[in-house]
Amino acid sequence: MSEKYDVVIIGAGIGGLVCGCYLAKAGLKVLIVEKNDKPGGYCTSFERDGFKFDVGPHYFGSLREDEGILFRILKELDLLDRIKFVTSDPTDRIITPDKTIFIRKNKEDTKKELMSHFPQEKENINDFFKFVLHKDFLYILSKTKKITFKKLLNSFFKDEKLKSALSVLTINLNLPPSKASALVMTVLLREFIFDGGYYPKGGMQVFSDLLAQRFKEYGGRIILSRIVKKIITKRKKVKAVELDNGELILSKIVVSNADATLTFKKLLDCHSKEAEKVRRLKPSYSAFVVFLGLKKKLKIKPPHFVTWFLSDYDVERIYRNINLSEEGSIKGKIIVFPPLEDTLLSFREKNTMRAIVIANYQNIWKRYKEKICNKIIKRLSFLIPDLERLIEIKEIATPYTFYRYTFNKRGALFGWQATPNQIDRNVFPPQVSVKNLYLVGHWVTSGIGHGNIPMVAFCGKRVFRLILKREKR
Ligand SMILES: Cc1cc2nc3c(=O)[nH]c(=O)nc-3n(C[C@H](O)[C@H](O)[C@H](O)COP(=O)(O)OP(=O)(O)OC[C@H]3O[C@@H](n4cnc5c(N)ncnc54)[C@H](O)[C@@H]3O)c2cc1C
Repeated sequence: MSEKYDVVIIGAGIGGLVCGCYLAKAGLKVLIVEKNDKPGGYCTSFERDGFKFDVGPHYFGSLREDEGILFRILKELDLLDRIKFVTSDPTDRIITPDKTIFIRKNKEDTKKELMSHFPQEKENINDFFKFVLHKDFLYILSKTKKITFKKLLNSFFKDEKLKSALSVLTINLNLPPSKASALVMTVLLREFIFDGGYYPKGGMQVFSDLLAQRFKEYGGRIILSRIVKKIITKRKKVKAVELDNGELILSKIVVSNADATLTFKKLLDCHSKEAEKVRRLKPSYSAFVVFLGLKKKLKIKPPHFVTWFLSDYDVERIYRNINLSEEGSIKGKIIVFPPLEDTLLSFREKNTMRAIVIANYQNIWKRYKEKICNKIIKRLSFLIPDLERLIEIKEIATPYTFYRYTFNKRGALFGWQATPNQIDRNVFPPQVSVKNLYLVGHWVTSGIGHGNIPMVAFCGKRVFRLILKREKR
């Protein structure tokens, strides 16, 4: 039996790290146990033959000075001077079957760009921007809480191509516009897309390493490469966690940053009502990702963070055919590829590149992944001639890979699907029916979205506040 902690956090994803920082800063004795050999969960980077790749996010939002959620968290943790974020203008490029549309850093410029492509929708575009950026958030909430993004777009626009171009952005929730919550999409557009993305200089691992370092400076302890096997309770009250080496660690409080289904169905040693709940909720989709190390540096003009490659205007059909077919057809898939990170990440004077295709957790990867990968590369050659010849190394991540890496159910990218009926604060709150057990990260619903870095960081702060309140009692 080892020493006793005030709080043990299972998992060093961004939710766990931020929560740990606040708790340790407040003087609590905190331990984080992470199964991987580095902190960050999806927000990590890895190296192959001198090339460096990010695993998950391509950029964050909410870093607007003094206002952004993430900005305020970094300020409170005294980290603003210790990390640099790169911005880009334009931030995104949307390629549709017959247009290339840029999302600019400045909202007014994005508005003008959209108006130049869809002059007949000029007034509606103006009204849409006014609505999305409305000062009274309660007004937005009342108009969007119960409806889908498709319904919201239909209430503003007539042009189907414009609706499709904006709908491509629902890939940020991995959902078709007919299912994606209008509220969460509006928040994303305000905080993230119309406000410009931010990329941590040096790659995503730099951001996670910094949070882990800060946690240790505040007096916290991290154990890497160890899996929590059980959460031990006595009369429905948390007592300890058991590690995969058999070690028992006593703790007054346990915070799980791990997958919600895993937490309640496998880790917890007693029955909970959440174990029933997780069966009813739908996890978000996963992704098929191709990582390429290229022999030379490409000039991407103008430089921008992400390309959203929409080869079919019918976005709904793309999601109807979510299962990648066995022949490896990727017809009509949305391919997202973030090219700017190459310049920021590569050790050498060479490019790295990622292509991300939304995918389901299927049983076909072993046999077909090479085939699917080659089709994706062929499709990208349409945009980057000679791509095949330029490839020095290639790696593939399937939904299985994402599951194995983080234990997220079915390799889910963003926690629960952000549909109107799965986003409410009460759908999956952080405080659960077992005493002294909390959940943190993208499986906790906040009411305005849960599956992205600013939101999981905010969730970390929210759980800290709940624990502090409890400790003061
Ligand atoms: C391909 C991709 C693209 C994305 N793009 C973006 C983007 O552009 N912008 C954005 O903001 N977000 C993006 N996201 C989403 C974002 O990365 C996630 O929502 C966020 O990182 C989730 O953080 P988390 O703390 O909830 O959990 P996770 O990152 O899942 O971390 C959970 C941690 O717990 C550990 N763990 C689990 N079980 C155990 C156990 N039993 N014992 C010990 N450790 C355990 C895992 O190893 C992991 O490190 C993307 C994700 C992916 C995969």
